[in-house]
Amino acid sequence: MSYFQVNDRCNGCLACVQNCPATALRAVDAEASRVLSHNMTRCARCGNCWRICPQEAIEFQFLLENRWDEVKTLDLVYCSVCGDPLYTADFGKTLSEKMDKTFKPVCSKHRDELPKIAGAHFLKGRTRKMEV
Ligand code: SF4
Ligand code: SF4
Repeated sequence: MSYFQVNDRCNGCLACVQNCPATALRAVDAEASRVLSHNMTRCARCGNCWRICPQEAIEFQFLLENRWDEVKTLDLVYCSVCGDPLYTADFGKTLSEKMDKTFKPVCSKHRDELPKIAGAHFLKGRTRKMEV
């Protein structure tokens, strides 16, 4: 989808092309057609074309709406102790491949505590056995 859109009200007057300070708009006449094109790399997003168009044909408003467009959704991996989100599953996979080992998902807060938690767990098991 192009970030710059022109709706059906455009009548090809060329006011936008002639008033674009960045030469980001062009019109090419070929045989029976006039083709209007926009180049996002050149565009300074100044909105001049949108303001100047007598037909209100340029759909540029959504670039000024300060909205967020979702571009990707990824699965998260959570800390196995507290459940805080750590990183994405794909990032963990990339790390494992690069380091040639697998990681236990533990946040920095619980990384040092994990051996203590594990120690306490084993100690509890031993105590229970001794009680029997
Ligand atoms: S100024 Fe508006 S009506 Fe004129 S060519 Fe550009 S988009 Fe079309
Ligand atoms: S926003 Fe500005 S730079 Fe971009 S096409 Fe319109 S007039 Fe040109």
